[in-house]
Amino acid sequence: MKFDFQTFIKEYKEKLSGFFSERKEAQEETLTRGIEDSVLQDILDLNPLSAFIPSEYGGYGGVTAEALSMLETSSYESLPLSLMMGINGALFLQPLANYGCDEAKAEVYDRIINANKMGGLMITEPDYGSDALKMQTSYTKKGDKYHIQGLKHWAGLTGMADYWLMTARSKNDKGKLGRDISFFIHDSRNGGIKVVEYFNNLGLYMLPYGRNEVDIKVPETHRLQPKSTGVTMMLDLLHRSRLQFPGMGMGFLRRMMDEAIDHCKSRFVGGQSLFNYDQVKKRISELQAYFTVCSAMCNFTSTNVPLDRNTSRMDVEANAIKSVITDFMQSASQSLLQLTGAKGYRLDHIAGRSVVDSRPFQIFEGSNDILYQQISESILKMMRRMKNHNLYEFLKDYKLTNKSSEYFKDAFNFELDPQMPQRKLVELGKALGRMISMEFTLDLNEQGFNKELVQNAVKTLQDEINSIMHVYKYGKQASVVENYQQDSHWFQFMGVNA
Ligand SMILES: Cc1cc2nc3c(=O)[nH]c(=O)nc-3n(C[C@H](O)[C@H](O)[C@H](O)COP(=O)(O)OP(=O)(O)OC[C@H]3O[C@@H](n4cnc5c(N)ncnc54)[C@H](O)[C@@H]3O)c2cc1C
Repeated sequence: MKFDFQTFIKEYKEKLSGFFSERKEAQEETLTRGIEDSVLQDILDLNPLSAFIPSEYGGYGGVTAEALSMLETSSYESLPLSLMMGINGALFLQPLANYGCDEAKAEVYDRIINANKMGGLMITEPDYGSDALKMQTSYTKKGDKYHIQGLKHWAGLTGMADYWLMTARSKNDKGKLGRDISFFIHDSRNGGIKVVEYFNNLGLYMLPYGRNEVDIKVPETHRLQPKSTGVTMMLDLLHRSRLQFPGMGMGFLRRMMDEAIDHCKSRFVGGQSLFNYDQVKKRISELQAYFTVCSAMCNFTSTNVPLDRNTSRMDVEANAIKSVITDFMQSASQSLLQLTGAKGYRLDHIAGRSVVDSRPFQIFEGSNDILYQQISESILKMMRRMKNHNLYEFLKDYKLTNKSSEYFKDAFNFELDPQMPQRKLVELGKALGRMISMEFTLDLNEQGFNKELVQNAVKTLQDEINSIMHVYKYGKQASVVENYQQDSHWFQFMGVNA
């Protein structure tokens, strides 16, 4: 390695700030798609991806805290760049470290470190997104190679990645697809992936997306080896990635907070600084709460999720962290845009750009609506197993809500109806996700983190959870009116005489 990790982070921070904050053209570049090759090469020359690579292959050792620190440094300057690094790390380099054979690792890691190469992951298909387990991309074995065919879309780094982690189901002689999912490392030099369309993605201009026809052959050595089933390996991959979202959230939220404070202090409206208005203070205190909670999540993941830990059973932690932090990211960007006023409503302003850049984080790697539902279902399952029906009784002894549940003795002191409708599962999951996040925040407090920030975050979480639980308990369950076109045009009731 060129540097020790701390020196690397310092150099990396300076370089990114030079590229994204200090150069005049940087603003303009946010409006062009892709990233200039010379800029990308300069960034990759510092080897940020080494933060994900084990030391025996020349990396910094795959230490989780260091990987999150690199993502944080990236996202303070550019959320798309951080996502680019995150895709490479969590969706390619880490799965390779845990499930690849030595031969594949040695070859791939060498090219990542010494030739600035990058990798991505293809799971999603046009007809199978949220229900990815039903994917139609298939493989058959021919000699010592796997032949993989299918159609994939929305893979980050489309047309740009040097390696693809490709997912597929086995196909037998009768054309029937197996239930399990397998992962293969494809080297783009071998050809076989044709980009048939590039998408005009709403934000994240730096990253190319599109639709790919896949017809590739992968050697035996380049198939990932699950320890049990392929689906469990996929869960491990997805959970580890979701657990690391706070790395991308961290720099982004700090930036939203810094930008909001800077702007509000210097902008005068009605004869005084915006910063003095109570509603403005409310918004900024929320930004600080998000920042604090995200710090707590980084602390949790760094402490509890080393690279070699199998995360396939960490569904509650992973789903809570990913959904809550991405909701906070979107909410923070919306708040910054509100505070900056019309100035922020420009695609080349950090506020406007952040709104569109952070939005898809609520959709990819598990749509938040679904993840919230899954949190509730996991808790219900545990309660059923323990024959416990009272939610507070369960939460006070549950390791992820042990301390935070104390703040909600009344709100959660009721018997859960296991037959509740889906919308209630989602609401409950939102509240539980935030309660788990509060637990992490209280843990961080015990380690000496700024007490004022923690108190502020706890208040914000209490408000959010109480209002969510109000809807959960008293929500009116409005239904969809199928025949909505009948008697529903306002003008027909105006009694206008023609
Ligand atoms: C910017 C971006 C980057 C991406 N990067 C990658 C990548 O690198 N690799 C990759 O393989 N894929 C990637 N994806 C794809 C992404 O993972 C999928 O878009 C996601 O899984 C959702 O699938 P879908 O778009 O088909 O939506 P659908 O599955 O059609 O779901 C759409 C919506 O329907 C609702 N919904 C779906 N199922 C349910 C349910 N059971 N109950 C209630 N509501 C439901 C939810 O609101 C959901 O958001 C990316 C997508 C985006 C936008």
